[in-house]
Amino acid sequence: MAEGKRYILDLTKDDVKELCKENALPSFRADQIWSWLSKGVTDTSRMTNISKDIRKILEDNTDTKGMTVLSEFRSQKDDTRKFVYLLSDGNIIETVVMRYKTGLSVCISSQAGCKMGCTFCASAKAGFGRSLTSGEMLGQVLLSQDLMQEKIRSVVVMGIGEPFDNYDNLIGFISKITDPDGPGLGARHITVSTCGLIPRIKQFTDLKSQVNLAISLHAPNDELRRQLMPVPAHFALKDLIDSCREYVDKTGRRITFEYSLFDGINDTLACADQLKTLLRGLNCHINLIAANEFEGSPYKRSSSKRVDVFRKALEQRGLNATLRREMGSDIMAACGQLRRSMEDHGEEQS
Ligand code: SF4
Repeated sequence: MAEGKRYILDLTKDDVKELCKENALPSFRADQIWSWLSKGVTDTSRMTNISKDIRKILEDNTDTKGMTVLSEFRSQKDDTRKFVYLLSDGNIIETVVMRYKTGLSVCISSQAGCKMGCTFCASAKAGFGRSLTSGEMLGQVLLSQDLMQEKIRSVVVMGIGEPFDNYDNLIGFISKITDPDGPGLGARHITVSTCGLIPRIKQFTDLKSQVNLAISLHAPNDELRRQLMPVPAHFALKDLIDSCREYVDKTGRRITFEYSLFDGINDTLACADQLKTLLRGLNCHINLIAANEFEGSPYKRSSSKRVDVFRKALEQRGLNATLRREMGSDIMAACGQLRRSMEDHGEEQS
């Protein structure tokens, strides 16, 4: 953070009250400031109902510019928007806003980069910067909402990074965004996607939260998982699925598996058979994803015909599977693609 100050969206309502108290400001000032922060307004010049002196107190004590828009991309194919945010220490993250029938959904990053090394992922290729604070995760939602001038209806933590490798800040973010005194988003409108860090899945299960859980699976056996996801594959697939069964048993909630399809790698009928055995009896849904290709990727995406054959094969084997709609393919909306491209070229692409 700049000058050792806390990013303003990392403050809790109690922190804002404390700051006001320390500066001998009446308590209603804390409510006014909190109301701006809950809307994602961090620029003090826009806090029109507070005086210049109070704005200065905020600026002197917090980092009000901890996250700024570096560039913005609009899809010509659909209504997808991608915001590239520059953090105060120079790290770059991406946030994607998609429009569904139910309203706007935002896909946020949990880390600047990722340590998990998945061989099909642009984020892994760009290396790891640092984990984001809960305020920086919140900032992606609220700042994007402010830029869109429209309420965000759902959040998926599925952008750059592994959220369960940043567990405490993730839980802090969930607590902030669901705070009825703050943005007040319903927990059921949040989805967290993990590559499968079993100890954290167990910890998350014990929270008995209403937040949706998705697992990036992508392989039906350990050998293939080691090839595609070397770090998460340190956990045996059987143990991972056992932890998913425990999640479903303890929470009563369905679990989602993300499965990107790579031509000739994980889209065969033998893979469909293995998935059937692996997931037998588990209350789950499989989200098939037409994999994203990027420069330097060793894999090709499956053709739409192969995707369709695979989806039908899963259905015939009693598995519930749908193909996820591709959004923003013309603006590199897939996780990490844009950050990597910007760092490779070292230039803004606005
Ligand atoms: S797929 Fe997810 S977990 Fe794997 S490297 Fe990419 S961001 Fe990290």
